[in-house]
Amino acid sequence: MADNSYKLELSKAEMKQLGYKAIDAIVDHFDVQNDKKPVATGSRAEMDSLFSETAPEIATDASQILDFVLDEVLPKSNIVTHPKSYSFVPGPSNYVSVIGDILATGFNVFAGGWVGSPAAAELEIVTMNWLLKLFKFPSKKGGGIFTSGGSMANLTALVTARRQRCGDDFSKAIIYMSDQAHSSNIKAIRVLGFKKEQIRIIPTDIEFKIAINKLKNAIAKDKLEGLFPFCIIASAGTTNTGTVDPLNAIASICKAENIWFHIDGAYGGAAILSKHGKKALAGIEKADSLTIDPHKWMFQPYEMGCLLVRNHKWLSETFSEKPEYLRDIEGNASEINFYDHGIQLTRRFRALKLYMSVKTFGLSAFRKAIEYNILLAERVENALRESSSWEVISPATLAVINFRYHPINSQLTEKKLDALNQHISSEIVKSKEALLVTTILQNQVVLRMCLINPRTSFQDVKETLEHCERIANEYL
Ligand SMILES: *Cc1c(COP(=O)(O)O)cnc(C)c1O
Repeated sequence: MADNSYKLELSKAEMKQLGYKAIDAIVDHFDVQNDKKPVATGSRAEMDSLFSETAPEIATDASQILDFVLDEVLPKSNIVTHPKSYSFVPGPSNYVSVIGDILATGFNVFAGGWVGSPAAAELEIVTMNWLLKLFKFPSKKGGGIFTSGGSMANLTALVTARRQRCGDDFSKAIIYMSDQAHSSNIKAIRVLGFKKEQIRIIPTDIEFKIAINKLKNAIAKDKLEGLFPFCIIASAGTTNTGTVDPLNAIASICKAENIWFHIDGAYGGAAILSKHGKKALAGIEKADSLTIDPHKWMFQPYEMGCLLVRNHKWLSETFSEKPEYLRDIEGNASEINFYDHGIQLTRRFRALKLYMSVKTFGLSAFRKAIEYNILLAERVENALRESSSWEVISPATLAVINFRYHPINSQLTEKKLDALNQHISSEIVKSKEALLVTTILQNQVVLRMCLINPRTSFQDVKETLEHCERIANEYL
Protein backbone atom coordinates (compact mmCIF):
# COMPACT_ATOMS: atom_id res chain seq x y z
CA MET A 1 0.00 0.00 0.00
CA ALA A 2 1.43 3.32 -1.03
CA ASP A 3 2.09 5.81 1.73
CA ASN A 4 0.37 8.96 0.62
CA SER A 5 0.62 10.74 3.94
CA TYR A 6 3.14 13.24 2.53
CA LYS A 7 0.25 14.86 0.65
CA LEU A 8 -1.28 16.01 3.95
CA GLU A 9 -4.75 15.05 2.82
CA LEU A 10 -7.90 13.69 4.36
CA SER A 11 -10.60 11.83 2.50
CA LYS A 12 -13.61 13.84 1.44
CA ALA A 13 -15.71 12.12 4.07
CA GLU A 14 -13.14 12.86 6.78
CA MET A 15 -12.91 16.49 5.72
CA LYS A 16 -16.65 16.90 5.93
CA GLN A 17 -16.89 15.16 9.25
CA LEU A 18 -14.13 17.32 10.71
CA GLY A 19 -15.55 20.51 9.24
CA TYR A 20 -19.12 19.91 10.31
CA LYS A 21 -17.97 19.12 13.81
CA ALA A 22 -15.91 22.30 13.96
CA ILE A 23 -18.78 24.42 12.65
CA ASP A 24 -21.15 22.78 15.12
CA ALA A 25 -18.76 23.67 17.90
CA ILE A 26 -18.52 27.30 16.76
CA VAL A 27 -22.30 27.62 16.46
CA ASP A 28 -22.81 26.01 19.88
CA HIS A 29 -20.31 28.47 21.30
CA PHE A 30 -22.21 31.42 19.81
CA ASP A 31 -25.43 29.94 21.13
CA VAL A 32 -24.44 29.29 24.73
CA GLN A 33 -21.53 31.68 25.29
CA ASN A 34 -23.62 34.00 27.46
CA ASP A 35 -24.03 31.15 29.93
CA LYS A 36 -20.32 30.44 30.05
CA LYS A 37 -17.89 32.35 32.24
CA PRO A 38 -15.86 34.95 30.38
CA VAL A 39 -12.64 34.49 32.32
CA ALA A 40 -10.14 31.69 31.80
CA THR A 41 -7.08 31.14 33.92
CA GLY A 42 -4.17 28.76 33.86
CA SER A 43 -0.61 28.84 35.06
CA ARG A 44 2.34 27.97 32.89
CA ALA A 45 2.76 24.76 34.89
CA GLU A 46 -0.85 23.76 34.32
CA MET A 47 -0.65 24.53 30.61
CA ASP A 48 2.64 22.65 30.32
CA SER A 49 1.19 19.62 31.99
CA LEU A 50 -1.68 19.60 29.52
CA PHE A 51 0.07 20.40 26.27
CA SER A 52 3.81 20.09 26.47
CA GLU A 53 5.15 17.34 24.22
CA THR A 54 7.65 16.85 21.46
CA ALA A 55 6.26 17.08 17.93
CA PRO A 56 4.72 13.68 17.24
CA GLU A 57 6.12 11.77 14.28
CA ILE A 58 3.12 9.50 14.10
CA ALA A 59 -0.33 10.41 12.83
CA THR A 60 -3.42 10.59 15.04
CA ASP A 61 -7.03 10.56 13.94
CA ALA A 62 -8.11 14.12 13.06
CA SER A 63 -11.37 13.99 14.98
CA GLN A 64 -9.49 12.91 18.07
CA ILE A 65 -7.25 15.98 17.80
CA LEU A 66 -10.29 18.17 17.22
CA ASP A 67 -11.96 16.77 20.33
CA PHE A 68 -8.86 17.51 22.36
CA VAL A 69 -8.72 21.07 21.03
CA LEU A 70 -12.42 21.63 21.72
CA ASP A 71 -12.16 20.18 25.22
CA GLU A 72 -8.83 21.54 26.37
CA VAL A 73 -7.55 24.38 24.21
CA LEU A 74 -10.47 26.59 23.30
CA PRO A 75 -12.08 26.72 26.75
CA LYS A 76 -8.82 28.09 28.13
CA SER A 77 -9.25 31.52 26.59
CA ASN A 78 -11.14 34.50 27.88
CA ILE A 79 -14.40 34.85 26.00
CA VAL A 80 -13.95 38.33 24.57
CA THR A 81 -17.35 38.09 22.89
CA HIS A 82 -19.07 37.55 26.27
CA PRO A 83 -21.54 40.24 27.42
CA LYS A 84 -19.70 40.53 30.73
CA SER A 85 -16.31 40.89 29.14
CA TYR A 86 -15.81 44.58 29.87
CA SER A 87 -12.08 44.91 29.94
CA PHE A 88 -9.34 46.03 27.67
CA VAL A 89 -11.29 46.25 24.44
CA PRO A 90 -13.79 43.43 23.96
CA GLY A 91 -13.98 41.68 20.60
CA PRO A 92 -17.69 41.22 20.02
CA SER A 93 -17.22 39.62 16.56
CA ASN A 94 -20.06 38.21 14.49
CA TYR A 95 -20.78 34.84 12.94
CA VAL A 96 -21.00 35.97 9.32
CA SER A 97 -17.46 37.35 9.49
CA VAL A 98 -16.30 34.12 11.10
CA ILE A 99 -17.55 32.31 8.02
CA GLY A 100 -15.83 34.92 5.86
CA ASP A 101 -12.55 34.16 7.60
CA ILE A 102 -13.09 30.42 7.26
CA LEU A 103 -13.68 30.83 3.53
CA ALA A 104 -10.67 33.11 3.07
CA THR A 105 -8.54 30.51 4.83
CA GLY A 106 -10.22 27.53 3.20
CA PHE A 107 -9.55 28.82 -0.28
CA ASN A 108 -6.21 30.24 0.88
CA VAL A 109 -6.77 33.38 -1.13
CA PHE A 110 -3.62 35.40 -1.79
CA ALA A 111 -4.64 39.00 -1.30
CA GLY A 112 -1.25 40.51 -2.13
CA GLY A 113 -1.63 41.40 -5.77
CA TRP A 114 -4.27 41.99 -8.36
CA VAL A 115 -3.39 38.94 -10.41
CA GLY A 116 -3.39 36.74 -7.31
CA SER A 117 -7.05 37.53 -6.86
CA PRO A 118 -8.72 40.37 -8.74
CA ALA A 119 -11.82 39.86 -6.61
CA ALA A 120 -9.94 40.05 -3.31
CA ALA A 121 -8.19 43.23 -4.44
CA GLU A 122 -11.48 44.65 -5.69
CA LEU A 123 -13.29 43.85 -2.43
CA GLU A 124 -10.50 45.54 -0.50
CA ILE A 125 -10.95 48.60 -2.73
CA VAL A 126 -14.73 48.47 -2.37
CA THR A 127 -14.78 48.10 1.41
CA MET A 128 -12.01 50.70 1.72
CA ASN A 129 -14.19 53.07 -0.29
CA TRP A 130 -17.04 52.43 2.14
CA LEU A 131 -14.73 53.43 4.97
CA LEU A 132 -13.28 56.44 3.14
CA LYS A 133 -16.80 57.70 2.60
CA LEU A 134 -17.79 57.16 6.24
CA PHE A 135 -14.82 59.22 7.39
CA LYS A 136 -15.28 61.82 4.62
CA PHE A 137 -11.82 61.16 3.23
CA PRO A 138 -11.27 62.12 -0.42
CA SER A 139 -13.14 59.48 -2.36
CA LYS A 140 -11.04 59.50 -5.54
CA LYS A 141 -7.63 60.24 -4.14
CA GLY A 142 -7.93 58.54 -0.80
CA GLY A 143 -6.83 55.01 -0.12
CA GLY A 144 -5.89 52.57 2.54
CA ILE A 145 -4.97 49.05 3.46
CA PHE A 146 -6.18 46.37 5.82
CA THR A 147 -3.63 45.23 8.35
CA SER A 148 -3.49 42.67 11.12
CA GLY A 149 -4.61 45.27 13.66
CA GLY A 150 -4.29 48.80 14.95
CA SER A 151 -0.64 48.42 15.92
CA MET A 152 0.32 47.51 12.37
CA ALA A 153 -1.87 50.28 10.98
CA ASN A 154 -0.12 52.83 13.22
CA LEU A 155 3.26 51.48 12.15
CA THR A 156 2.27 51.61 8.50
CA ALA A 157 1.06 55.20 8.97
CA LEU A 158 4.28 56.34 10.59
CA VAL A 159 6.45 54.71 7.92
CA THR A 160 4.36 56.54 5.33
CA ALA A 161 4.50 59.85 7.19
CA ARG A 162 8.25 59.64 7.56
CA ARG A 163 8.80 58.70 3.95
CA GLN A 164 6.63 61.58 2.78
CA ARG A 165 7.97 64.22 5.10
CA CYS A 166 11.53 63.33 6.08
CA GLY A 167 13.03 61.37 3.26
CA ASP A 168 16.13 59.53 4.43
CA ASP A 169 17.27 61.89 7.18
CA PHE A 170 14.91 61.88 10.10
CA SER A 171 17.46 62.72 12.78
CA LYS A 172 15.79 66.04 13.61
CA ALA A 173 12.20 64.90 13.21
CA ILE A 174 9.99 65.18 16.30
CA ILE A 175 6.73 63.33 16.98
CA TYR A 176 4.07 64.58 19.38
CA MET A 177 1.34 62.69 21.19
CA SER A 178 -0.45 62.87 24.51
CA ASP A 179 0.25 60.87 27.63
CA GLN A 180 -2.96 58.98 26.86
CA ALA A 181 -1.88 57.89 23.36
CA HIS A 182 -1.76 54.14 22.82
CA SER A 183 1.52 52.32 23.51
CA SER A 184 1.52 50.86 19.99
CA ASN A 185 2.53 54.29 18.71
CA ILE A 186 5.64 54.35 20.88
CA LYS A 187 6.39 50.80 19.77
CA ALA A 188 6.05 51.81 16.12
CA ILE A 189 8.34 54.79 16.65
CA ARG A 190 10.91 52.50 18.26
CA VAL A 191 10.61 49.97 15.43
CA LEU A 192 11.27 52.82 13.01
CA GLY A 193 14.51 53.68 14.76
CA PHE A 194 13.62 57.07 16.16
CA LYS A 195 15.38 57.95 19.38
CA LYS A 196 13.51 58.51 22.60
CA GLU A 197 14.54 62.17 22.44
CA GLN A 198 12.47 62.52 19.28
CA ILE A 199 9.20 61.85 21.06
CA ARG A 200 7.27 64.54 22.94
CA ILE A 201 4.70 63.19 25.35
CA ILE A 202 2.31 66.09 25.91
CA PRO A 203 0.29 66.15 29.16
CA THR A 204 -3.48 65.93 29.04
CA ASP A 205 -6.02 68.25 30.65
CA ILE A 206 -8.58 67.19 33.25
CA GLU A 207 -10.71 65.68 30.50
CA PHE A 208 -7.75 63.57 29.31
CA LYS A 209 -7.46 65.58 26.09
CA ILE A 210 -4.07 66.65 24.84
CA ALA A 211 -3.32 70.11 26.23
CA ILE A 212 -3.28 72.25 23.10
CA ASN A 213 -1.25 75.09 24.59
CA LYS A 214 1.41 72.71 25.81
CA LEU A 215 1.48 71.10 22.37
CA LYS A 216 1.94 74.50 20.72
CA ASN A 217 4.67 75.43 23.18
CA ALA A 218 6.53 72.20 22.57
CA ILE A 219 6.41 72.73 18.81
CA ALA A 220 7.62 76.32 19.12
CA LYS A 221 10.46 75.28 21.38
CA ASP A 222 11.55 72.50 19.07
CA LYS A 223 11.57 74.86 16.10
CA LEU A 224 13.72 77.33 18.03
CA GLU A 225 16.19 74.56 18.66
CA GLY A 226 16.41 73.78 14.97
CA LEU A 227 14.42 70.56 15.23
CA PHE A 228 11.76 69.48 12.76
CA PRO A 229 8.23 69.01 14.14
CA PHE A 230 7.09 66.29 11.79
CA CYS A 231 4.08 64.39 13.07
CA ILE A 232 1.29 64.75 15.62
CA ILE A 233 -0.53 61.62 16.69
CA ALA A 234 -3.99 62.45 17.98
CA SER A 235 -6.22 59.92 19.70
CA ALA A 236 -9.78 59.51 18.50
CA GLY A 237 -10.96 57.58 21.41
CA THR A 238 -8.19 56.87 23.90
CA THR A 239 -8.27 53.29 25.08
CA ASN A 240 -8.38 54.36 28.71
CA THR A 241 -11.27 56.82 28.66
CA GLY A 242 -12.60 57.03 25.09
CA THR A 243 -11.50 60.65 24.99
CA VAL A 244 -11.15 62.31 21.61
CA ASP A 245 -8.37 64.88 21.33
CA PRO A 246 -9.42 68.30 19.94
CA LEU A 247 -9.08 67.18 16.33
CA ASN A 248 -9.99 70.48 14.66
CA ALA A 249 -7.51 72.44 16.77
CA ILE A 250 -4.77 69.90 16.04
CA ALA A 251 -5.64 69.98 12.35
CA SER A 252 -5.13 73.76 12.37
CA ILE A 253 -1.73 73.40 14.01
CA CYS A 254 -0.72 70.73 11.51
CA LYS A 255 -1.82 72.91 8.64
CA ALA A 256 -0.06 76.02 9.92
CA GLU A 257 3.14 74.16 10.74
CA ASN A 258 3.09 71.69 7.85
CA ILE A 259 3.05 68.75 10.25
CA TRP A 260 1.73 65.28 9.38
CA PHE A 261 -1.59 64.66 11.11
CA HIS A 262 -2.06 61.05 12.15
CA ILE A 263 -5.13 60.02 14.09
CA ASP A 264 -5.15 56.81 16.04
CA GLY A 265 -8.83 55.88 15.92
CA ALA A 266 -8.20 52.21 16.63
CA TYR A 267 -10.49 52.36 19.59
CA GLY A 268 -13.05 55.05 18.79
CA GLY A 269 -12.98 55.56 15.03
CA ALA A 270 -15.85 53.17 14.40
CA ALA A 271 -18.13 55.52 16.32
CA ILE A 272 -18.36 57.59 13.12
CA LEU A 273 -21.17 55.19 12.24
CA SER A 274 -23.41 56.61 14.94
CA LYS A 275 -25.00 60.00 15.42
CA HIS A 276 -23.39 60.60 18.81
CA GLY A 277 -20.03 59.30 17.66
CA LYS A 278 -19.98 61.48 14.57
CA LYS A 279 -20.31 64.55 16.75
CA ALA A 280 -17.52 63.41 19.05
CA LEU A 281 -15.24 62.73 16.11
CA ALA A 282 -15.67 66.10 14.36
CA GLY A 283 -12.46 66.92 12.51
CA ILE A 284 -11.43 63.31 11.93
CA GLU A 285 -11.79 63.92 8.20
CA LYS A 286 -8.81 66.28 8.34
CA ALA A 287 -6.24 63.62 9.16
CA ASP A 288 -3.50 62.75 6.70
CA SER A 289 -3.64 59.19 7.97
CA LEU A 290 -6.15 57.44 10.19
CA THR A 291 -5.96 54.12 11.98
CA ILE A 292 -9.15 52.24 12.66
CA ASP A 293 -9.53 48.73 13.97
CA PRO A 294 -12.47 46.76 12.57
CA HIS A 295 -11.69 43.88 14.93
CA LYS A 296 -12.78 46.07 17.79
CA TRP A 297 -15.91 48.17 17.32
CA MET A 298 -16.77 47.05 13.81
CA PHE A 299 -17.45 43.61 15.17
CA GLN A 300 -14.96 41.68 13.06
CA PRO A 301 -13.09 38.67 14.42
CA TYR A 302 -9.30 38.98 14.79
CA GLU A 303 -7.30 40.04 12.92
CA MET A 304 -8.36 43.17 11.10
CA GLY A 305 -6.97 46.66 11.39
CA CYS A 306 -7.10 49.39 8.79
CA LEU A 307 -5.13 52.43 7.74
CA LEU A 308 -6.80 55.16 5.71
CA VAL A 309 -4.81 57.90 3.97
CA ARG A 310 -5.88 61.06 2.17
CA ASN A 311 -3.84 60.14 -0.88
CA HIS A 312 -3.36 56.53 -1.90
CA LYS A 313 -0.18 57.46 -3.75
CA TRP A 314 1.51 58.08 -0.41
CA LEU A 315 1.25 54.37 0.26
CA SER A 316 2.57 53.23 -3.11
CA GLU A 317 5.37 55.82 -2.95
CA THR A 318 6.33 54.44 0.45
CA PHE A 319 5.99 50.72 -0.03
CA SER A 320 6.44 50.06 -3.72
CA GLU A 321 9.84 48.55 -4.38
CA LYS A 322 9.48 48.70 -8.15
CA PRO A 323 8.66 51.52 -10.48
CA GLU A 324 4.94 52.06 -10.26
CA TYR A 325 2.90 49.80 -12.45
CA LEU A 326 1.67 51.39 -15.55
CA ARG A 327 -1.87 50.42 -14.75
CA ASP A 328 -1.69 51.57 -11.16
CA ILE A 329 -2.83 55.02 -12.01
CA GLU A 330 -4.64 57.74 -10.10
CA GLY A 331 -7.84 56.67 -8.41
CA ASN A 332 -9.16 53.58 -6.82
CA ALA A 333 -10.51 52.25 -10.08
CA SER A 334 -7.04 51.07 -10.99
CA GLU A 335 -5.83 47.56 -10.36
CA ILE A 336 -4.10 47.83 -7.03
CA ASN A 337 -1.45 45.46 -5.80
CA PHE A 338 -1.80 45.76 -2.07
CA TYR A 339 1.73 44.46 -1.50
CA ASP A 340 2.74 47.87 -2.90
CA HIS A 341 0.59 49.65 -0.32
CA GLY A 342 1.89 48.14 2.89
CA ILE A 343 4.49 45.99 4.56
CA GLN A 344 3.26 42.48 3.77
CA LEU A 345 3.65 40.70 0.47
CA THR A 346 1.60 37.60 1.21
CA ARG A 347 -1.52 38.65 3.01
CA ARG A 348 -4.79 37.04 3.93
CA PHE A 349 -8.09 38.13 2.45
CA ARG A 350 -9.30 40.33 5.30
CA ALA A 351 -11.77 42.40 3.30
CA LEU A 352 -14.02 39.38 2.80
CA LYS A 353 -15.35 39.24 6.34
CA LEU A 354 -16.11 42.95 6.46
CA TYR A 355 -17.74 42.74 3.04
CA MET A 356 -19.90 39.75 3.93
CA SER A 357 -20.98 41.05 7.31
CA VAL A 358 -21.88 44.55 6.12
CA LYS A 359 -23.79 43.10 3.17
CA THR A 360 -25.58 40.58 5.36
CA PHE A 361 -26.63 42.81 8.24
CA GLY A 362 -26.62 46.15 6.44
CA LEU A 363 -24.67 49.16 7.63
CA SER A 364 -27.74 50.29 9.56
CA ALA A 365 -27.32 47.35 11.95
CA PHE A 366 -23.75 48.43 12.65
CA ARG A 367 -24.92 52.00 13.20
CA LYS A 368 -27.59 50.84 15.64
CA ALA A 369 -25.14 48.62 17.50
CA ILE A 370 -22.68 51.46 18.04
CA GLU A 371 -25.38 53.92 19.03
CA TYR A 372 -26.70 51.31 21.47
CA ASN A 373 -23.24 50.89 22.99
CA ILE A 374 -22.74 54.63 23.45
CA LEU A 375 -26.14 55.05 25.08
CA LEU A 376 -25.67 51.98 27.28
CA ALA A 377 -22.50 53.49 28.72
CA GLU A 378 -24.38 56.74 29.39
CA ARG A 379 -27.13 54.82 31.12
CA VAL A 380 -24.53 53.08 33.27
CA GLU A 381 -23.02 56.46 34.11
CA ASN A 382 -26.40 57.75 35.26
CA ALA A 383 -26.95 54.69 37.40
CA LEU A 384 -23.55 55.09 39.02
CA ARG A 385 -24.16 58.77 39.69
CA GLU A 386 -27.48 57.99 41.34
CA SER A 387 -25.84 55.53 43.71
CA SER A 388 -24.21 56.72 46.92
CA SER A 389 -21.59 53.95 46.66
CA TRP A 390 -20.02 54.77 43.33
CA GLU A 391 -17.99 57.65 41.99
CA VAL A 392 -17.65 58.35 38.28
CA ILE A 393 -14.05 59.20 37.46
CA SER A 394 -14.40 59.74 33.75
CA PRO A 395 -17.83 60.08 32.18
CA ALA A 396 -19.21 57.70 29.56
CA THR A 397 -17.33 58.58 26.39
CA LEU A 398 -17.58 56.48 23.24
CA ALA A 399 -18.84 53.57 25.34
CA VAL A 400 -16.02 53.67 27.91
CA ILE A 401 -16.62 54.62 31.52
CA ASN A 402 -14.28 54.72 34.50
CA PHE A 403 -15.51 54.65 38.06
CA ARG A 404 -14.65 53.46 41.50
CA TYR A 405 -16.33 52.20 44.60
CA HIS A 406 -16.32 55.15 46.98
CA PRO A 407 -19.28 55.34 49.35
CA ILE A 408 -20.30 58.84 50.35
CA ASN A 409 -19.10 59.75 53.87
CA SER A 410 -16.88 56.69 53.96
CA GLN A 411 -13.76 58.61 55.06
CA LEU A 412 -11.56 56.13 53.25
CA THR A 413 -8.07 57.32 52.44
CA GLU A 414 -6.93 57.36 48.81
CA LYS A 415 -4.67 54.45 49.57
CA LYS A 416 -7.51 52.42 51.01
CA LEU A 417 -9.75 53.30 48.05
CA ASP A 418 -7.09 52.10 45.65
CA ALA A 419 -6.73 48.85 47.55
CA LEU A 420 -10.49 48.41 47.72
CA ASN A 421 -11.02 48.86 43.99
CA GLN A 422 -8.06 46.66 43.17
CA HIS A 423 -9.60 44.05 45.44
CA ILE A 424 -13.00 44.33 43.75
CA SER A 425 -11.42 43.74 40.37
CA SER A 426 -9.28 40.83 41.56
CA GLU A 427 -12.23 39.14 43.21
CA ILE A 428 -14.57 39.58 40.31
CA VAL A 429 -11.99 38.18 37.91
CA LYS A 430 -11.28 35.35 40.33
CA SER A 431 -15.00 34.50 40.33
CA LYS A 432 -14.75 34.37 36.50
CA GLU A 433 -18.21 35.95 36.30
CA ALA A 434 -16.97 39.10 34.59
CA LEU A 435 -13.79 40.40 33.07
CA LEU A 436 -13.42 43.78 34.78
CA VAL A 437 -9.95 45.12 35.44
CA THR A 438 -8.58 48.40 36.68
CA THR A 439 -6.69 51.22 35.09
CA ILE A 440 -4.97 54.24 36.59
CA LEU A 441 -6.44 57.68 36.09
CA GLN A 442 -5.12 60.75 37.87
CA ASN A 443 -3.11 58.42 40.12
CA GLN A 444 -6.25 56.61 41.23
CA VAL A 445 -7.02 52.93 40.78
CA VAL A 446 -10.31 52.83 38.93
CA LEU A 447 -12.55 50.23 37.33
CA ARG A 448 -12.91 50.57 33.59
CA MET A 449 -15.82 49.28 31.55
CA CYS A 450 -15.65 49.19 27.78
CA LEU A 451 -19.16 48.52 26.52
CA ILE A 452 -18.75 47.89 22.81
CA ASN A 453 -20.54 44.56 22.81
CA PRO A 454 -24.08 45.04 21.46
CA ARG A 455 -25.14 41.88 23.30
CA THR A 456 -24.27 43.40 26.68
CA SER A 457 -27.50 44.46 28.38
CA PHE A 458 -28.03 46.99 31.14
CA GLN A 459 -29.06 44.02 33.28
CA ASP A 460 -25.63 42.40 32.69
CA VAL A 461 -23.92 45.55 33.93
CA LYS A 462 -26.28 45.85 36.87
CA GLU A 463 -25.52 42.28 37.94
CA THR A 464 -21.81 42.97 37.73
CA LEU A 465 -22.07 46.18 39.75
CA GLU A 466 -24.12 44.40 42.42
CA HIS A 467 -21.49 41.71 42.52
CA CYS A 468 -18.83 44.40 42.99
CA GLU A 469 -20.86 45.92 45.82
CA ARG A 470 -21.09 42.59 47.62
CA ILE A 471 -17.33 42.17 47.33
CA ALA A 472 -16.77 45.71 48.62
CA ASN A 473 -19.07 45.25 51.59
CA GLU A 474 -17.30 42.08 52.62
CA TYR A 475 -13.98 43.84 52.34
CA LEU A 476 -14.91 46.91 54.37
C1 LIG B 1 -6.25 48.64 20.48
C2 LIG B 1 -5.58 49.89 20.13
C3 LIG B 1 -4.42 49.91 19.35
C4 LIG B 1 -3.72 48.65 18.92
O1 LIG B 1 -4.50 47.90 18.06
P1 LIG B 1 -4.29 46.30 17.95
O2 LIG B 1 -5.37 45.92 17.02
O3 LIG B 1 -4.45 45.76 19.32
O4 LIG B 1 -2.94 46.08 17.41
C5 LIG B 1 -3.89 51.13 18.99
N1 LIG B 1 -4.46 52.27 19.40
C6 LIG B 1 -5.57 52.30 20.17
C7 LIG B 1 -6.15 53.61 20.58
C8 LIG B 1 -6.17 51.11 20.56
O5 LIG B 1 -7.27 51.14 21.34
